[in-house]
Amino acid sequence: MKIIDSHTHIDYITCDLQPEVVGCVCCAVVESDWNNIVDLVKQDKRVYGAFGVHPWFVESLKDGFDIRLENLLKTDSDYMVGEIGLDKHKPNMEKQVEVFMTQLDIAVKLKRTVFLHCVGAWDKILHILKQYKQNELPMLVVHNFDENDMILKQLLKYENVFFSISKNVVYDINYRIEQIPINRILIETDAKKDVLLKDVLIRIITIKNDDGVPEIIYNNTLKVLNK
Ligand SMILES: [Zn+2]
Repeated sequence: MKIIDSHTHIDYITCDLQPEVVGCVCCAVVESDWNNIVDLVKQDKRVYGAFGVHPWFVESLKDGFDIRLENLLKTDSDYMVGEIGLDKHKPNMEKQVEVFMTQLDIAVKLKRTVFLHCVGAWDKILHILKQYKQNELPMLVVHNFDENDMILKQLLKYENVFFSISKNVVYDINYRIEQIPINRILIETDAKKDVLLKDVLIRIITIKNDDGVPEIIYNNTLKVLNK
């Protein structure tokens, strides 16, 4: 069983901690993470870097972050964009939208996979996505997806959207993974120490009643990483 953790953070590098994990995507949340992630990616081939600013931290932004982000991404075609998005429980929605759109534009321009955080703001994100042609959009990984079927249906219309599933699939009996096609599923810890990815995978195998699930999910992740 080979697993890639499709969303973690710098303080919890799962490939050192869970024996089945052979790789992980390390997502930045603030600009001060970027250099640390670059160092880590250079030292450890199992770690893939995603760079950006999380919607919780838009207030910490310094002028010119967008230029620095674009310049950093241009230094390595493997670098991706994340964790970016919108969160209605956090302040400054107007600023969040502005920062998200700026970062998404850079990802579109450079054709880089995006790791997306969205809480209670799908109307806004779907509206923003509609401003692009479908074939213009890069691969989008919706992290810790836990939304209703209507949103899911709209997202599934985009061929390049993937869903990164975490412990909700193990613990929440109301969480319906049946509706998400297996070729769109990835798995993640989101740096939560109580998430064992092996358990998440076993639960998905049971729900989908398919022993091929680990290989399919592994291949989905390679696709998202452009590997
Ligand atoms: Zn995260």
